[in-house]
Amino acid sequence: MTIMKSENLSISTYKNPLPVSLEAIEQAAARLEGRVERTPLVRSDNLSKRVGYPVHLKLETLQPIGAFKLRGAMNAILSLGDEKRQRGLVTASTGNHGRAVAYAAEKLGIRATICMSSLVPANKVEAIRALGAEIRIVGRSQDDAQEEVERLTKSGGLTAIPPFDHADVVAGQGTIGLEVIEDMPDLETILIPLSGGGLAGGIAVAVKALKPEARVIGISMERGAAMHASVKAGRPVSVREEETLADSLGGGIGLANRVTFALCQALLDDIVLVSEDEIAAGIRHAAHEEGLTVEGAGAVGFAAVLAGKVTISGPTAIIVSGGNIDPALHKTIIDGGAA
Ligand SMILES: *Cc1c(COP(=O)(O)O)cnc(C)c1O
Repeated sequence: MTIMKSENLSISTYKNPLPVSLEAIEQAAARLEGRVERTPLVRSDNLSKRVGYPVHLKLETLQPIGAFKLRGAMNAILSLGDEKRQRGLVTASTGNHGRAVAYAAEKLGIRATICMSSLVPANKVEAIRALGAEIRIVGRSQDDAQEEVERLTKSGGLTAIPPFDHADVVAGQGTIGLEVIEDMPDLETILIPLSGGGLAGGIAVAVKALKPEARVIGISMERGAAMHASVKAGRPVSVREEETLADSLGGGIGLANRVTFALCQALLDDIVLVSEDEIAAGIRHAAHEEGLTVEGAGAVGFAAVLAGKVTISGPTAIIVSGGNIDPALHKTIIDGGAA
């Protein structure tokens, strides 16, 4: 992939050097070529008409695991040395990150162990097992599973692949930004689902380096928006976790956050919060108007535009980050059921 570098901004013009560079993202893109999908950026006629500017959708739902997380996990694993690869990988995620680590490890012939609590539903366990990972059931909470990850990294020599707060993971997610600018050089606004900030942080590094005048906006759910609360507080803070339709956006950013907080604080122009009803409307819009099955986390961009929560003032890209939603829940929502 060749990208013309914009001359008027280098990331180093920020006060402190940021933990991920455009160069790291370009290297990730070279590493990922042929190993993850270069996803299409498709025009939404419906939204373009609605807002009066071209609106394009970046379809990360088309990655082999149904979400963008494959980019970061694959880049982080490919960046490991032979010895660490041979010893194997471990993570505690049962969601899209767990799928990504399992899939990438299987493709690369590396052992991956996914630790999970006994409360994880059987269908989620089987989905990860089917991708080739070893399952380790420990305790009765996500914290118990995370403790097992730490034990296996210390005593078992396994390498933990974190879901967002890791420079190689962020660089992998940032390759989406390179692709969007390449396909849409007149980009004015980009809307990005935001949880731990690996996706938004990585894309922001690429977009702000190549197109400094573009607006980069993170979108979270109102219920438990940890990065929003942290940026407001000026330091990583924890928030109460609540159930949400955007389940892939749940969880904290880590009080000892090293990478993504700094990126989001420095580079995001705004963080917008959407309600559960607005997320449901986003999922419905995706199904009825765009022909897409999108999970709650992947629908927050639609939600924000439909609710008028972002002012659109030029060509806009929406990152549609994932499509892994329980089919029964999806049906209830698109049939108009309550959130
Ligand atoms: C993980 C995830 C996000 C959020 O990514 P972060 O890097 O944690 O901000 C958004 N959408 C989907 C579908 C995800 O799986």
